[in-house]
Amino acid sequence: MTVQSISTPQAVADGQLFVDGKFRASSSGETRDVVNPATEEVICQVAWGTVEDLDDAVAAAQRAFEDESWGGLTPKQRARVLLRVAEAIEDNAEELALVESLDVGKPIAFTRGFDVPSAADLFRYCAGVVEQLEGSARPAGTRSLAYTRREPLGVVGAITPFNFPLNLLVNKLAPALAAGNTFVHKPAEQTPLSSLRLAEIMASAGLPAGVFNVVTGDGATVGAALAEHPGVRKLAFTGATATGKRLIASAASTLKRVTVELGGKGANIVFADADLDAVTQWAFQAAFFNTGQFCMSGSRLLVQRPVYDEMVTRMAAAAGAAAVGDPLDPRTVLGPLAHRAQLERVVEYVAIGEAEGAVLRAGGSKGKQDRGFYHEPTVFADVTPDMRIAQEEIFGPVLSIIPFDTEEEAVAIANGTPYGLAAGLHTADLGRAHRIAARLEAGIVWVNTWSMFENTIPFGGYKDSGYGRELGPEGVEEYLQIKSVVVNVE
Ligand code: NAD
Repeated sequence: MTVQSISTPQAVADGQLFVDGKFRASSSGETRDVVNPATEEVICQVAWGTVEDLDDAVAAAQRAFEDESWGGLTPKQRARVLLRVAEAIEDNAEELALVESLDVGKPIAFTRGFDVPSAADLFRYCAGVVEQLEGSARPAGTRSLAYTRREPLGVVGAITPFNFPLNLLVNKLAPALAAGNTFVHKPAEQTPLSSLRLAEIMASAGLPAGVFNVVTGDGATVGAALAEHPGVRKLAFTGATATGKRLIASAASTLKRVTVELGGKGANIVFADADLDAVTQWAFQAAFFNTGQFCMSGSRLLVQRPVYDEMVTRMAAAAGAAAVGDPLDPRTVLGPLAHRAQLERVVEYVAIGEAEGAVLRAGGSKGKQDRGFYHEPTVFADVTPDMRIAQEEIFGPVLSIIPFDTEEEAVAIANGTPYGLAAGLHTADLGRAHRIAARLEAGIVWVNTWSMFENTIPFGGYKDSGYGRELGPEGVEEYLQIKSVVVNVE
């Protein structure tokens, strides 16, 4: 199946980017192939944008911010647009799910069941929040009346990674628009299609020209120019920690606000009193959801020694039995890695794990598919906390299982990496659950579950996993600034 056969999305088929409400070629005329990771076939061409295209997009966003058509809307009017966008996403849900599955290699069951409905829900949630963005009156003596206003920032620039192209865009876009900002997106080189399709859907839902712009292209040129652009008042970045650190430095020259959602190396702690049937399911999902290309994956499973051997056996069996294959088959649980370099990275880390002396208990090779960027779900046992496979983010289907004895030791191992994005624990002891949740250095802690998401629940990093929050009211707050108005009443 090709994208063209599911519909005729103009941008997806024609190698164009989206600026000021219109699809157009890159100013250089250049395009690049977009590759289906399940077949290695070219899906279509995408425009390879330039700094000039980016300047045009920022200028269009600036005009829309100042224009009556967007900047002049009341919160109620903005909310109506966002609700129409939510409906338009739902009207086009099947196609968006297919585009995302083809582009990223995500199983269609997940794009249908999570990525797309969650994106629509977030627009609806943010529409609800818009009208609650109130200021407050402040005590100011007898000579003045003082109150605060929460105002938009202006043009927001967003740079996103390849693994959740639609959701990581919408996590920024929906709250930014709700708050009254306008937006320029630089999607990942490998997976730009859902952003372009969303632009088309949003335009059809009545979003005015210039409010949402997409400049596809290279990180080092278009992405870097977005971070440095003086017309961009906020940069919302999701991606690798090293890239985030570089972008923070380049954004500093224009004093733009920055939020960075970066890498992770989540610890999932299993105590001997936990329900091991349930743990096996959650731990499988934690490690292998999205073929492990998940910043909040539980890629380290810390298991208390009395149940260690049993959990290793269970996890190896679950990995061995997993349905790996065609993302468009509704029974598929693991698709391919999203691009070739990511597969090569996984292969390299499996070799590192073996060389470090970890014991391979499942997977370890590319699997039986003769094409596509597939890798078997892989389980390493007897991993020590200092090994590279326990310290570094692999971003693929590789689980490291580490034994521990005491609560104290579990917390030390869990907190013993530079990252702090997600963590979890499984226990029947309620007191222990709260005690440990408080001690884990992570922006989100799951107890007796993993990756349970709601658009109301904020997430973000501690330590090298970044700062700023997405989702929930906190996620909207990131796109607002406070103004105090003081009136002389004498
Ligand atoms: P990446 O940092 O290589 O790329 C992310 C984006 O940054 C891409 O759009 C890329 O073009 C752009 N980019 C690259 N170099 C740039 C530069 N010099 N200037 C401006 N932009 C540049 O990351 P990736 O490989 O696409 O994604 C994987 C990483 O993303 C992992 O570390 C993962 O943990 C992280 N991630 C974090 C979250 C989160 O919410 N914390 C979510 C998903 C992914």
